[in-house]
This record gives sequence, C-alpha cells and structure tokens, in this order.
Amino acid sequence: MVRCHAHPWGTIVYVSPLPRSSAAPTRRTRTPVVDAACADAVDLAHATAEETAWPGKVGEHQGLQADGDRVVTHFFACLDPAYNGWRWAVTVARASRAKAVTVSECVLMPGEAAVMPPQWVPWIDRLRPGDLGPGDLLPTAVDDARLAPGFTQVDDSTDRQMLWELGLGRARVLSAEGRDEVATRWYEGTAGPRTPIAASAPAPCSTCGFFVPLAGSLRQLFGVCSNEYAPDDGKVVAVDHGCGAHSEAVVAPSAVDYAPPIVDELGYDVVAAGAMADEEALGHS
Ligand code: SF4
Repeated sequence: MVRCHAHPWGTIVYVSPLPRSSAAPTRRTRTPVVDAACADAVDLAHATAEETAWPGKVGEHQGLQADGDRVVTHFFACLDPAYNGWRWAVTVARASRAKAVTVSECVLMPGEAAVMPPQWVPWIDRLRPGDLGPGDLLPTAVDDARLAPGFTQVDDSTDRQMLWELGLGRARVLSAEGRDEVATRWYEGTAGPRTPIAASAPAPCSTCGFFVPLAGSLRQLFGVCSNEYAPDDGKVVAVDHGCGAHSEAVVAPSAVDYAPPIVDELGYDVVAAGAMADEEALGHS
C-alpha cells in the first residue's frame, strides 16, 4: 500500500486476481477499443498522479491501455528512488454519451524492471526433509495420498501387516502409493545401490549378518543396518547397498597369534674346538 502525502488514507497498489473456478463457464471477451476522449486525458491523469505522489515524483507518460469500453489507464514513470522501476497508473473513464472524463483510480504499480519479492510459496511446498526440529508439530492432511485407512488396504497385493491393523492398530497405514513413494526415495537416496560406498563394498547388504530385514512387503528391498561401525548404522538400507563393514568382508587375525619362527639354513656360527669338547662331555651335541 502506498500512502499519499496529501491524503491520510492509503492507495491499494496491487490486488491478487481471484483464481478462476474450473467449473465456471468461460466467456469470450473482445479486446476493448481505446476511447479517444479518455486517451486524450493525459494531462488530467498526470495531474492526478502528481497530486497523489510527492511533488516532482511523476515522470514522463509511458503509454496507455484500454481496460474496457471508455476506460483507459495511463502510465507515468515514477521518479521516486525508493520505487525504482515502478510507474504510476491512472485510470480514467467516461460515461456513455458523456463528454467529461473523470479519474477512477490512481495507483503505483511495479513495472518490468521493478524489484519484486519472489513468488510466495505455501509453507507445505517449502518444507524439506530435515526441517522438522525438536518440539515441532507437522500436521498430516486428512486426504494425504501416502496414507490410507488400514481396513481398505487388504487386497492380495497389500502388506499382510495391514491385516493386523484392521480394527486393532493405527487408524491409518501406508497406502500403496505411499509405499511406492518411500521405496523410490530410499532406493534413490544415500542408502541405495548407487552410492560410492556401495560401489566399493565387498558384498551387498543382503548377504551381511548385520542386515535386519523390514516387515511387510518392504522387506523384499530394505532392511536396517545394525553394525555400529557402519556409516548407515540404525538406518534403512537397500538389499543391494553395502559398505566395507560387511560381516563377511575380512576375517581378522586372532590377537594371540605369534609370527612363525624364521630358520636361516644358510648361515652358521663359528665355535672354538675346546668349547665344543666341553659341550660333548656334558652330553650336549
Ligand atoms: S554393515 Fe554395511 S554391508 Fe552390512 S548391513 Fe550395514 S551397510 Fe550393509
């Protein structure tokens, strides 16, 4: 809203158009013709803009557009440095069969070069994994497609786990769509097969003793890593993920093993003859 120096009230600068209902019938609209009298009322429009703006803040005429029958909007450059790229829009109109042109509206509008804030995005679309902090509550929509009432998800292709949910457990469980979505996200993520650590792993998680399969149909593809030395300890990993901490990767040598003795069969020691006789007399050889 822009406040006029001459009037205490503000001026509405921009009003968002109401979204058109898809059910509403569409009507053909013809392009309005520019009314000559309204088009000639440049001075009237300029004077109105100057009255609304601070003195000397209205620049040259930048054109006009017909908004309807006998309704024309004139545009003037805005010279206020705080509104660089904006322009004054003064709408004038003339009644049917009347000669007098009157001012309907005078507003400050952003032009193409105006600095504008980015498009507003609803918070639900801005939310990213990891945004939820301690104490935060994230409501789940009643019609969230990832969830479905447990009693509706009992066909043959559905988790047997859901049968247990029938009237006994949670009000809602993962729907088929929600299951596909999470499986894709996990598989394409850092615990899937296409990560550097999985590519260099000696064997996949499916053959690892630390791999704990999930319950339900997701067990066909995912489990939880239970190796505290693995980077994915406590996380869901795909069956074809892997890491260097695989249970069968290397058999570590026992800590009490000694190195085998080294026997030098080519070298010898020179011993004095007397010492040798003494050794034999004592029974040594
Ligand atoms: S230790 Fe490595 S290979 Fe074994 S389950 Fe965990 S991530 Fe998979």
